[in-house]
Amino acid sequence: MVNSVVYKDTDLVLSVESVSKSFDGFKAINDLNFYLGEGELRTIIGPNGAGKSTFMDLITGRTRPDEGTVTFHQDDGHDLDLTKLREYQINRLGISRKFQTPSVYQDHSVYDNIVLSLNHGRGVWQSLLYKESAADKEAIEEVLETVRLQDLCNERAGLLSHGQKQWLEIGMLLAQKPRILLVDEPAAGMSDEETERTGELLLSLEGKHSIMVIEHDMEFIRQIARKVTVLHQGHVLKEGKFLEVANDPTVKEVYLGRQKHD
Ligand code: ADP
Ligand code: MG
Repeated sequence: MVNSVVYKDTDLVLSVESVSKSFDGFKAINDLNFYLGEGELRTIIGPNGAGKSTFMDLITGRTRPDEGTVTFHQDDGHDLDLTKLREYQINRLGISRKFQTPSVYQDHSVYDNIVLSLNHGRGVWQSLLYKESAADKEAIEEVLETVRLQDLCNERAGLLSHGQKQWLEIGMLLAQKPRILLVDEPAAGMSDEETERTGELLLSLEGKHSIMVIEHDMEFIRQIARKVTVLHQGHVLKEGKFLEVANDPTVKEVYLGRQKHD
């Protein structure tokens, strides 16, 4: 493990520099440079195949880059190159990912799902037999309130709607107090009302966690947009405020999938 001691002089939590990744000669990520600030809520858009999910894979250690560095700026001022670490090690550092499909313990209650997540590492039964401390209980209540599932805490998770399951899973990740939360297309398959509530949830996390949200739904992006990054052919095409990005002719061209002749 490379563990260089560099004291940061910025409030960045993640720096991705000169990262490239090819699959069978095809450059899915091409000289990508990207910086995420502490407590920032960043949205990432881009057409299908732009490399968005691969980008998340490179941060979480699911895929290793061919070139470049992914630097995690830790709380204590130590920098870590994540490209040298394994997926579980990166997860333990507090970098959590929410995949597109919800994965909750269907047969357990909403409350117990959070308990299980808090006790990450213990077995399911061991974890459910474990008596939560008052502090644990408080943390669980707080998470349930954040994801607005307090009223459903005794409900079996399998009976929740698709949107509620997504919120529960976000809650399960929040229980682990991640420093960086990566969320891949959370609004996919949600009703308009659920989508809006998801936006409110993500906005409420701003400042508490550093969050990256990949999304296709432009209305949703408009709702939660702070700084928006447009990815195209594995490279940052444009970064800026929602309207700057949405009104950019090149972005319109690639995002709407129009033919472009170079
Ligand atoms: P997005 O999430 O923006 O739709 P992806 O990151 O999923 O894009 O994919 C970017 C490109 O990389 C696509 O052309 C995809 O086929 C390719 N790709 C991604 N992962 C792999 C892989 N494991 N093996 C081969 N090709 C891949
Ligand atoms: Mg994708």
